[in-house]
Amino acid sequence: MTKTSLRDRLNDVTTVLTPDQIGALDPVIDPANTQGALAVAPRTIDEIVAVFSLCNDTRTPVIPHGGRTSLAGAVAASGDEVMILGSNMPRVLDIDPLSQTAHISANTTLAEAESAARAHGLTTGIDLAARDTATIGGMVSTNAGGMEAHRNGTMRNRVLGLEAVLPNGTILSDLAHVRKCNEGYDVKQLLIGAEGTLGLVTSVILQLLPEPPAPHTFLLALPDAAAALAVLQTLHRTQGIDVLRAEAMWNAFATKNAELQTTNPLMTLPNAPLYVIYELHVPTGTAEEVVFAALEPHFETQNVLDAIAAQSMQQANDIWMIREDTMSMGTVYPHSEWFDISVPLAHLDSFVKLVETRIAALNAGLMIHVLGHLGDGNLHYSIAHTDPIPDDLKAQIKPAVMDGLKDIGGSFSAEHGIGTEKREALQKYGDTGKLHLMTMIKQMIDPYTICNPGKVL
Ligand SMILES: Cc1cc2nc3c(=O)[nH]c(=O)nc-3n(C[C@H](O)[C@H](O)[C@H](O)COP(=O)(O)OP(=O)(O)OC[C@H]3O[C@@H](n4cnc5c(N)ncnc54)[C@H](O)[C@@H]3O)c2cc1C
Repeated sequence: MTKTSLRDRLNDVTTVLTPDQIGALDPVIDPANTQGALAVAPRTIDEIVAVFSLCNDTRTPVIPHGGRTSLAGAVAASGDEVMILGSNMPRVLDIDPLSQTAHISANTTLAEAESAARAHGLTTGIDLAARDTATIGGMVSTNAGGMEAHRNGTMRNRVLGLEAVLPNGTILSDLAHVRKCNEGYDVKQLLIGAEGTLGLVTSVILQLLPEPPAPHTFLLALPDAAAALAVLQTLHRTQGIDVLRAEAMWNAFATKNAELQTTNPLMTLPNAPLYVIYELHVPTGTAEEVVFAALEPHFETQNVLDAIAAQSMQQANDIWMIREDTMSMGTVYPHSEWFDISVPLAHLDSFVKLVETRIAALNAGLMIHVLGHLGDGNLHYSIAHTDPIPDDLKAQIKPAVMDGLKDIGGSFSAEHGIGTEKREALQKYGDTGKLHLMTMIKQMIDPYTICNPGKVL
């Protein structure tokens, strides 16, 4: 079917964007994110059904769009696809304070959902730096993790119910508001983390949590990950201290990124191999005194080299900017390969050192920038060079970061998903039985491969 006749047929069932409107879309991460052939913005679930039915009948590929903040190339287009936007869908944000649940439409940003929950003294229990742009639909579809996953789990653990349109136009409506709901196979789980390859999520029921009280922010200088984990264990085990977040930044990332910020909170700390931001809730006593008393043995053994307790919201924000503003580093080091891996905590220190040795052996000009969610062992690596990295070196960098993870119980793909970037790795490191089942599920639900083709499998 020609593009013109497809546009005409889509126009009969929904709102089709003009080329100018497509040109005005923000690709956010990657210019390819908005380079589909056509874009539609349905106003109702019936219009989504009609778009899917038409695209299924005509074997036209579609890409569900959220906020386009995917770090795995999961919304990238090849030029043939119909991009389905959530911008015209009604915004649903119904909070039930009694059961601590929320019915939220997929097009809602995380920041909007969080603000609605906070108005009732509740929280979504999930947070990430792209909060103002990432949508609940995109987060469900990537099974997003973020800074609170070590306490509250990933998106999969927050979803009680889900509504979606499948590639053949079938509506899956499983909008349970309850935790206990054993009604046969839990098929909604298939849509969570599917990266738009099995259908389009329209809304979800999220389990909310009581809003955490105001936190205290501490920035610690540490000798290595083993010390940071020993500190974390002490904080977890000290009565009267609740660990909300623990975000790690190794020296090369922290020092460079701190330099790029307007205020550099590292100036008052010694140059250390590792810096960790611990965000803590201390309900009684003076937070600084309680925390430093708990950490006293670690100061004595040099497990902690030095520490700052933020004295104001501004100082806390300055500290958090080093961790959250990862985009500045991307601008300074445009030639870099990114990784998002999970390492069991017992192996964290040795694995970081192993990757360092492997990368140094490949090329002396490679720089390693590491940061991550310490509490669940999720590390983000950027392996950068001042010059463009040739393909053969890129091919060697991948196993240098990912090899061996499976053997120690970790994962080559932690929270950003597979998208286009990790398809090869999925085939290399994925379990054969699991890959077989995934292929069968994809064939059954999307036999004509119209849903986000070229992603995941
Ligand atoms: C600065 C920054 C920090 C980040 N930090 C984190 C972090 O800490 N943790 C983390 O997990 N991620 C993080 N990310 C990655 C990203 O924000 C998440 O992957 C997020 O879940 C993507 O949401 P989105 O709405 O932007 O989805 P998009 O990027 O638009 O889409 C992502 C995937 O979901 C699919 N999709 C989108 N909406 C739907 C829908 N309604 N139905 C079906 N499929 C859909 C798309 O087709 C695509 O496959 C970060 C990104 C940035 C830029």
